Amino acid sequence: MHRRNFLKTTAVSFPLISRPSLFSSATLKPIIVSTWDSGLPVNREAWKILGNKGRSLDAVEAGARYMEDQLGCCVGLAGYPDRDGIVTLDACIMDENANCGAVAALERIKHPVSVARKIMEETPHILLAGKGAQEFALNNGFPLEPEVLSQDAKKAYEEWKIQQHYNPEINIERKQNNGPFAPYFFNDGTANHDTMGILALDTQNNLSGAVTTSGMAFKIHGRVGDSPLIGAGLFVDNEVGAATSSGVGEEVIRIAGTHLVVEYMRQGYSPEQSCKKAVERIIRRNKEKAKLLQVGFLAINRKGEYGAYSIQKGFTFSVKSEKEEKIHPSKFFYHAV
Ligand code: ASP
Repeated sequence: MHRRNFLKTTAVSFPLISRPSLFSSATLKPIIVSTWDSGLPVNREAWKILGNKGRSLDAVEAGARYMEDQLGCCVGLAGYPDRDGIVTLDACIMDENANCGAVAALERIKHPVSVARKIMEETPHILLAGKGAQEFALNNGFPLEPEVLSQDAKKAYEEWKIQQHYNPEINIERKQNNGPFAPYFFNDGTANHDTMGILALDTQNNLSGAVTTSGMAFKIHGRVGDSPLIGAGLFVDNEVGAATSSGVGEEVIRIAGTHLVVEYMRQGYSPEQSCKKAVERIIRRNKEKAKLLQVGFLAINRKGEYGAYSIQKGFTFSVKSEKEEKIHPSKFFYHAV
């Protein structure tokens, strides 16, 4: 049989595998999803823009800035330092047109996410790191903040110096929240989660995302995790969906995690299934190692459907739309050991 005939016959006899259409049902918009319980006030801040028909890009930036202002262990200048006692910040932002910007290992600048947006909008580049990133920020009007550790960070660093081991804890949300409106406090010693990843779908059907973090506590000076890397800590494709991650960044980078999640959504998998498949990819590579670490993915598709999946129990995410304002526990592979 000629190849052309074979193809013709095949097309008639075997219909293409049908995948669920990403565009078939009504879109739930606007909607915003963020990592962890701490995403709840972040979403509320972003909603001031998103709920007023604002742009998703402005909303995710506002949410990230809110988080960068808090006295938490894991985001902004109050975050825990590296092993040299220096706080270094990573952030990125991405819009519906695949415009993106990022900063890595940025010191003494309060709002890395806004520096990332400036890089995106005003330079031909995507990622600036270290001294150059700081110089860029200063040249663009971002003030240089004092080089001081927050009280909490100082205490944690002093304690860490006694042992000087680097053993990233499994990130879990330990704090019990009393309902969706309970205020979230970072310095109660009970929450050890890190990065803030935010994904939003606006009324114009545009998706954007932002990530901000002080990265792994007590990392080697200069270490950069997944968070500022497009395709690792954040990926947005307006035809399909968006994804973000939290946890041990090295494992996310190894599989280009959020790009992978979005590609699974492109194949027709739901956001939760896509996150699960990416988590399974990490586990398959090294089961023993994966038992001891945490990675969580959070995703949203163009319909406003969302989902998450993590290696260990304890990853959570926060959602806000006109229909709900809620913290959800993520599904997971292992119970924390
Ligand atoms: N992913 C971040 C990093 O590796 C940390 C975290 O989310 O826990 O820097």
